[in-house]
Amino acid sequence: MVSAGELAAVQKMNDPDEITLITQTARLADETHGFRAKCLQRLIRIGMPVPTTVALSFETIRALQREEQIAIAQVLCHFDDHPILSVRPSSQSTEWGGPSTVLNIGMCDETYQRLEREIGELAALPYMRLIQTYATEVSRLDPEPFATPEMPYREGLAAMLATYEEEAEEPFPQSLEEQLHAVLSSMACAWNSTSARLLRNARGAPSDAALGLVVQNMILGFGPGECGSGVISFVDRASGHPRLTGRYLRESQGREAVTGCAEGALYLGHDARGASLEDQCPDILQQLIGLGKTARQNLKEEMEIEFGVQSGVLSVLDAVRVHREPRAAVRIAVDLANDGVISASDAVLRVDPNEFSQLLHRRMAPDARREVLARGVAASPGAAAGRVVFSAEAAQAAEAREEPAILFRRETGPEDIRGMHSAAAVVTERGGTTSHAAVIGRGIGLPCVVGVSLIKIDARKRQVMLPSGDILHEGDILTVDGSAGELLAGTPEIEEAGLDDAVQTLLGWAAQRCDIGIRANADTPQDARTALNFACDGIGLCRTEHMFFEAKRLSIMHEMIFADDPVKRAAVLARLLPIQRSDFQELFRLMEKRPVCIRLLDPPLHEFLPSDTAGMRQVAAALGKTLSDVDARVQSMREYNPMLGLRGVRLGITFPEIYEMQARAIFEAACLASHQVEPEIMIPLVTAYREVELIRARIDAVAAAVRSEQNVEFTYQIGVMVETPRAALRAGDIAHHASFLSFGTNDLTQMTYGLSRDDAGRFMSSYVNQDVFAEDPFRSLDLDGVGELLREGAKRGRATRPDLMLSLCGEHGGDPSAIEFCRQAKYSYVSCSPYRVPVARLAAAQSALRESKGD
Ligand code: PEP
Ligand code: MG
Repeated sequence: MVSAGELAAVQKMNDPDEITLITQTARLADETHGFRAKCLQRLIRIGMPVPTTVALSFETIRALQREEQIAIAQVLCHFDDHPILSVRPSSQSTEWGGPSTVLNIGMCDETYQRLEREIGELAALPYMRLIQTYATEVSRLDPEPFATPEMPYREGLAAMLATYEEEAEEPFPQSLEEQLHAVLSSMACAWNSTSARLLRNARGAPSDAALGLVVQNMILGFGPGECGSGVISFVDRASGHPRLTGRYLRESQGREAVTGCAEGALYLGHDARGASLEDQCPDILQQLIGLGKTARQNLKEEMEIEFGVQSGVLSVLDAVRVHREPRAAVRIAVDLANDGVISASDAVLRVDPNEFSQLLHRRMAPDARREVLARGVAASPGAAAGRVVFSAEAAQAAEAREEPAILFRRETGPEDIRGMHSAAAVVTERGGTTSHAAVIGRGIGLPCVVGVSLIKIDARKRQVMLPSGDILHEGDILTVDGSAGELLAGTPEIEEAGLDDAVQTLLGWAAQRCDIGIRANADTPQDARTALNFACDGIGLCRTEHMFFEAKRLSIMHEMIFADDPVKRAAVLARLLPIQRSDFQELFRLMEKRPVCIRLLDPPLHEFLPSDTAGMRQVAAALGKTLSDVDARVQSMREYNPMLGLRGVRLGITFPEIYEMQARAIFEAACLASHQVEPEIMIPLVTAYREVELIRARIDAVAAAVRSEQNVEFTYQIGVMVETPRAALRAGDIAHHASFLSFGTNDLTQMTYGLSRDDAGRFMSSYVNQDVFAEDPFRSLDLDGVGELLREGAKRGRATRPDLMLSLCGEHGGDPSAIEFCRQAKYSYVSCSPYRVPVARLAAAQSALRESKGD
């Protein structure tokens, strides 16, 4: 007896929508039959000459995957009595791939004999092709015995049929129904193979992604008159500029014309390199150009069209969105909008922010030869080639010789910043996405690969051992691809950044649609200039410690650290004051009326001290101390967990003179500015309201003193960087003393997960590969856990102070999902590294557009 479930399944299979002829009105959708079936329907609707095609739904293919029979008669009833058919995959997205197309189903002895009478011995070709594909894809036989035999076609076919019979231990199937069912089943199974799953998951497909199939009447491509097949598109894949691309090949099928080894393939338009379709069949080319225009206008996309010609008659077999490089994606979207085919808003929505970011950096040419020497975390995008160096000094010396250098460090620290500015790229053995090298690299647009844990750097011997065991010495040349996280041998081709007119136009449209501020994390005038070039709305985070690493300043910092009492410390700080003041003056000048948020000193003081003996000796000489004095001081400042130790506001509470000097420098710079400046002063690593209360009182006192000394009125804001879970939870208390809260999601992520941002790179890929984390939380904001702290912090802070200004300034400020989060929570701005500003603006505009469309 048939169960109710089985009955429902049979009824479902009989539902005409599950196996359906593609017509203008058939009920088809990407979600049920896949992109290809839907696209073919669109082509039919706009009058394209598409051969008869039947779509098999996801549900039908699932039945095949369960090894159930499907109603083949329902497929075949739409074709002539003895059709020759092709089957193509139709998953939900073009990006997810799928099993290869199978051509010439229906070729058998009888069809062959009939065809031979019409077109002669060429009739053997489609039959042989079917046997080849069937043998390997359906019967799973070794491909070698099925190579095309070097003998006349007729004998070749006979030999191949005999080989099939021998290898498969049965004759080649002669029934169309049997062939078709077997092909459909094998394609359905191929979709479920492990390699196919992994491939499509890597391209963003969900684990339950389904497959549909389309069965189409073949345009044979052989016969009397003009016969053949080809592929045409109307734009250049690399630049996006209009250009006829593709090939046409006589007596061919499928995509043979573009397989590279296709001898005799014709160019499409006139071409100095050889014969073209335009020369030989101008009317067919004109028809194709007309079809291309219709497709672009109606499908609102640049399409690649696969076509067949039979006795001079053109058919459109398939069309897919032209595959394109990021630079071309922008130009195509902008051109479509400028031509009125899509709106400017749609153009903004069409560009992937992550791909867009590649345009802001030099990058590997798409077809560059890649010999990968080692892999790590792709921490800062861009590509650069140069000579290996192992110290900041060597990088600076290389820069002086105008030689690009790749700086290798176990991990970087503040003392490496000058060297990083001089280097063309940085590689570190340790670290993750928000480690020092990564943050600085992104800030200054320097390609950077961190956490390359399988290399061994020996800075003393000036060499690095690669995972292969090979050794690179100082001076050897290699290339760093910071976008892919790879070290490459030699100097493969690199492309320049592409901020062309199309990018500028798109950014202009994005700016008009962006409803959240996009500020930059900029520490130096140079960063500020870069950020202004990318049209930032202000500075959201100036990490003042980065101002102290120039040689002259660093030695004053050393004196300050070695000062024994507050009076001596204040005296040294008085020498730093004018230097800081001029830094801020320059930032205020550059940023004009845009807001500038300055964070008071954050890192533990020992970060300013050298860790090696040579460095300590230098400090000892400069300060007139002995090496053992310096060593003792360095040892005494060592902490077990420096990131949880004496840093941030704890420095301000313990050594008040430091923050007082910084506040004075800020206020004096504001007084000297030629325009009204309202500085925003931010207190780092807060955990308790009392910290803020104390620091605020001191800053207010400094402001009052500067006002009366300078006789200038100015206003300022004092805010808190929320980067500890406690600060987020106690935001209600803290907001009594702060006019803004800026979420520092690097430390907040580190502290919420209890996961060191400098060491996470060691195991992050294992965690992501095993789905423990969906993504590296230092790269993509954890909307659940860290997000909850952000939500609660905002809610509690606003409950105390409704006009509280909220923002996010961790590295996630450039992450599209974090930006969406901030927009929805009505934050005032996000702040990210200068090179991410355009990406953040695009992502924010897309989020706003999606919201207004109700997505
Ligand atoms: C943060 O912690 O999110 C932050 C922006 O500060 P830093 O990266 O300097 O610790
Ligand atoms: Mg921080």
